[in-house]
Amino acid sequence: RTSIGGIGRDRIARLRETEAEAFRKARPKSAAKIGNGLPGFFGGVPMHWMNDWPTPFPILVDSAKGATITDIDGNRLDDFCLGDTGSMFGHSPPPVARAIRRQAGRGLTYMLPSEDALAIGPLLQQHFGLPFWQIATTATDANRFALRVARAVTSREKILVFNGCYHGSVDETMVRLVDGRPVNRPGLAGEFRDLTHKTGVVEFNDLPALEAALRGKDIACVITEPVLTNSCMVLPDPGFHDALRKLTRAAGTLLLIDETHTISTGPGGYTRTYGLEPDLFVLGKPIAGGVPASVWGMSDDVATRYAAYNLTKEPGYSGMGTTLSGNPLQFAAMRATLEEVMTDENYLHMGRLALRLHAGLTGVIDRYRLPWHAARVGARVEFICAPGPLRNGGEAEAAHAPDLEAAIHVALVNQGVLIAPFHNMMLISPATTATQVNRLITAFGAVAARLAA
Ligand code: PMP
Repeated sequence: RTSIGGIGRDRIARLRETEAEAFRKARPKSAAKIGNGLPGFFGGVPMHWMNDWPTPFPILVDSAKGATITDIDGNRLDDFCLGDTGSMFGHSPPPVARAIRRQAGRGLTYMLPSEDALAIGPLLQQHFGLPFWQIATTATDANRFALRVARAVTSREKILVFNGCYHGSVDETMVRLVDGRPVNRPGLAGEFRDLTHKTGVVEFNDLPALEAALRGKDIACVITEPVLTNSCMVLPDPGFHDALRKLTRAAGTLLLIDETHTISTGPGGYTRTYGLEPDLFVLGKPIAGGVPASVWGMSDDVATRYAAYNLTKEPGYSGMGTTLSGNPLQFAAMRATLEEVMTDENYLHMGRLALRLHAGLTGVIDRYRLPWHAARVGARVEFICAPGPLRNGGEAEAAHAPDLEAAIHVALVNQGVLIAPFHNMMLISPATTATQVNRLITAFGAVAARLAA
C-alpha cells in the first residue's frame, strides 16, 4: 500500500524523521542519560513496554502532578495518557497523596486488614452493586482469580472471549481470530499450549456467533469489556449487552465484566451507568489512585455457589491471592479514591471535557477530510485513522496504522501533548483543564494540516 489512513507513506516517513529529530533536540540531558538505554536492564528498560513508545527513547520523567508530566530536561507535557489509566484520576490526587503519607509510617504490608478495609467493602458495594469483594494487586490477577471461580462454580473448563480483547496477561484470554480461525495470539512468548482448546473466541457484536458458541453449554464464563478499548474503540450495538446477558444466562454461563478501562464512564463504571448485570466484576489500574491494586466482585449467586464449592473441595492452595494483595497502603489509597476522588462532581468535569475533546478531534478530521473518526466512552476518547464506527476486533485490527500513529504521537509530544502508546487513547482526569484540551485539539489540527497538505 502506498498510503496508510489516507496519507502517503513518504509523507508519514518524513514526518517521523523530522519529529524524531525535534524530540532528541529538546532533550539533551535525557539523551545523554538514556539515549542508549538504561544501564543494567534487559532491552535497556525496566519494563519492556517502555520500549513500545514511538519516541526515539523513553521520556525520562522528573515528576508528574495532576495532568502534567515534566521530564528531566524541563519539558512539560499535558498528559492524556495518564499511565494508560493507572492515573486516570490525575497524578497523585491530593486525597490519595494524603492517605499515602498517613499510612507511610504505619507499616506497608502485613497480610492483615487495617481499619481502612472496614470502609472499603461497603464502598465497593455502593459503587458497583455487587455484594462480595476481594482485593488483588493487578487487573490481570483479578481477572485470573475471577475466571478461576467461574470455572470452579460451573464445573466447566472453557471460557469465551471476544476477538481483539485484552484483559491483562491472563494466559487463557490470549487468543485471536485470524481469517475467521481461532489461534494463539501472535507474539506470545514461550507458549506451547494451544489455548484455543479451552478458549472460544467470537467477534464482538456478533450475536449469532455468540449464540452458537454458547449452545454446547460448556462455557464457564464470557469475559468482556463493556466497550472494547484495547482494539481501537468498539462500542456495543444497541441491544448487544441485553442479548449477551440473556444468552449467557440461558446457557448457564457466567458473565465477567472487566471495567478496568471503562471505569471512564462513571463512578460505578459502564455497569452502573448502563444497568449491566454481571456475575463477576473486575476493576484494576486507577482504583487506588495509582497505587497498584485491583478488586473483583461476585454476585450473591456466585458467592453462594463458591462457598458451597469450597466445602466440597480438599483444603489446600486455591491458586488465588498474592502476598502483597490487600495491604494497608492499598487500603488507604483505595479508600481515599473511592470516597473522595471517584465522585459525581469529578466525573461530570471529566465527561464534559471529553465531549469537548471528541467534538474538537472530529472537527479537525472533518476539516481536512481525513478518512478517520473519533470514539468516546465517558472520559476516554480515541481517534482512529480509519473510517468508523468499528464494529468488532477484526475491523479494529485492520484499522490500526502503526507507522502513521507513531508519527502523530511524536509530533504531539513535540507540541507538548502526551497520548497513550500502542493506540490513540486520551483520558481526561479531574485535574485536566479546558486549556489543556484546547491545546491537544490545536496540536492535533497542526499535525493533520501537515499530513493532509
Ligand atoms: N483489563 C483491561 C480491560 C485492560 O485494558 C488491562 C490493561 N490494559 C488489564 C485488564 C490488565 O491490567 P494490568 O496490566 O494492570 O494487570
